[in-house]
Amino acid sequence: MLRKILIANRGEIAVRIIRACTEMGIRSVAVYSEADRFALHVKKADEAYCIGSEPVAGYLNIYTLVNLALATGCDAVHPGYGFLSENAQFARACKERGLIFIGPEADVIFRMGDKTEARKAMVAAGIPVTPGTDGNLCDVDEAVSAAEKIGYPVMLKATSGGGGRGIRRCDNVHELRGNYDRVISEATKAFGSAAVFLEKCIVNPRHIEVQVLADRYGNAIHLYERDCSIQRRNQKLIEIAPSPQLDEAQRQYIGGLAVIAAKAVGYTNAGTVEFLLDDGGRFYFMEMNTRVQVEHTITETITGVDIVEEQIRIAAGLPLRFKQEEIIRRGFAIQFRINAEDPQNSFLPSFGRISRYYAPGGPGVRTDTAIYTGYEIPPFYDSMVAKVIVNALTWEDAIQRGERALKDMGLFGIKTTIPYYLQILRHPEFRAARFNTGFVENNPDLVNYSNKPRPEVLASVIAAAMASHTGL
Ligand code: ADP
Ligand code: ADP
Ligand code: MG
Repeated sequence: MLRKILIANRGEIAVRIIRACTEMGIRSVAVYSEADRFALHVKKADEAYCIGSEPVAGYLNIYTLVNLALATGCDAVHPGYGFLSENAQFARACKERGLIFIGPEADVIFRMGDKTEARKAMVAAGIPVTPGTDGNLCDVDEAVSAAEKIGYPVMLKATSGGGGRGIRRCDNVHELRGNYDRVISEATKAFGSAAVFLEKCIVNPRHIEVQVLADRYGNAIHLYERDCSIQRRNQKLIEIAPSPQLDEAQRQYIGGLAVIAAKAVGYTNAGTVEFLLDDGGRFYFMEMNTRVQVEHTITETITGVDIVEEQIRIAAGLPLRFKQEEIIRRGFAIQFRINAEDPQNSFLPSFGRISRYYAPGGPGVRTDTAIYTGYEIPPFYDSMVAKVIVNALTWEDAIQRGERALKDMGLFGIKTTIPYYLQILRHPEFRAARFNTGFVENNPDLVNYSNKPRPEVLASVIAAAMASHTGL
């Protein structure tokens, strides 16, 4: 087994990985920027090292991280999600220096990180893929003639995109021409690559993804699916496992398809195969994420499998310890991404000091976060500050529990998406499990909630007012 792991990440996922290390008797090494000096992962790891004054650059510096891992006697590196997690060069640099990279092989990361290459690999494996261009586009005229063949609406996508960025829907040739340079410049800035391609836009689809685990000995299983259709601007807000919108036959089919996909590319470690499901019940491969995902938690909850622990075991060279038929699924789990954003102000980031925080608890509730009372959220990173995960035996009970847990949570000093999620939970279409990726956009009125203070707060205001009036 591994002895010591460097965690090349920050925030809640770094804390999550430290927890797995602690349970497995593995020492953990945290890294942090100066902005993260007071971050929770720094406090929780066995050792912690500052990697510079730049807020982001240190977390992306392959050489600093690899050298630090070696200097501190680590035998492995866990990249988390975001940052270098899907960077093939990082995986390769680790391997070349004798470190175990906790993820798939560098060439698999490289191939799957390129959306057009991934599509080609899936077509070759017989997986249904969203109709689109065979490769990247050379210029806007090629895009226009390709779009005519595919048929509008189309999606113009950055080949190395991620995090919901570098994607534009185009309903006609004018929009396509207008968006072409925009997506290229966005992609160049965000991903360092100008490559773009076209896909048919699946109108109002469901986002269904499957968690897979594969070892180095050719064994691969799936841990069922997640429904991530509740999104805003192609970014996930609420995730559900399993999808309440699938029947058992669809569930078995899509799980099997993901395992075929993983095996076809020689995948190892934990990964996610993302599909779109159209109104006619057809599934289309969209992309593969070669890392642990933000929403891995809900799969852990319904299967009892600790995905980060399995990642570490697989990376250490152990064979999978579960057969497909040993994966028992139970109930429903919902994850809420608590973002430091103001839904009533176009979801503008709302960073600042957490004046008071307490996690929701009770049965069927899990909170993954790196915040604490008094913590100042630095403005340089992702706005997600916590994940609240609830589970129950039925979909209806999971919704009830979600509502209860979100009300149970205390998070003061910043604006968050909590009140917005309470609105979603009350929406009849959500409750009836009939929603698609257009849900947020099609329900703009969900941001119209009132912020009226609770009666006890009012009482103190009233008391103060009375005191000044009556002189008591
Ligand atoms: P998940 O599929 O796990 O929900 P997200 O798409 O929400 O992942 O991304 C998780 C984090 O990683 C976000 O902070 C996102 O901005 C970042 N991220 C994902 N892919 C990339 C990428 N290719 N380049 C830069 N950042 C990325
Ligand atoms: P990322 O790498 O940023 O996660 P994805 O390719 O997974 O990008 O797409 C992110 C989201 O964008 C999807 O979950 C879906 O809502 C939307 N999307 C992407 N491609 C299409 C498509 N062809 N048709 C409809 N929606 C799409
Ligand atoms: Mg995706």
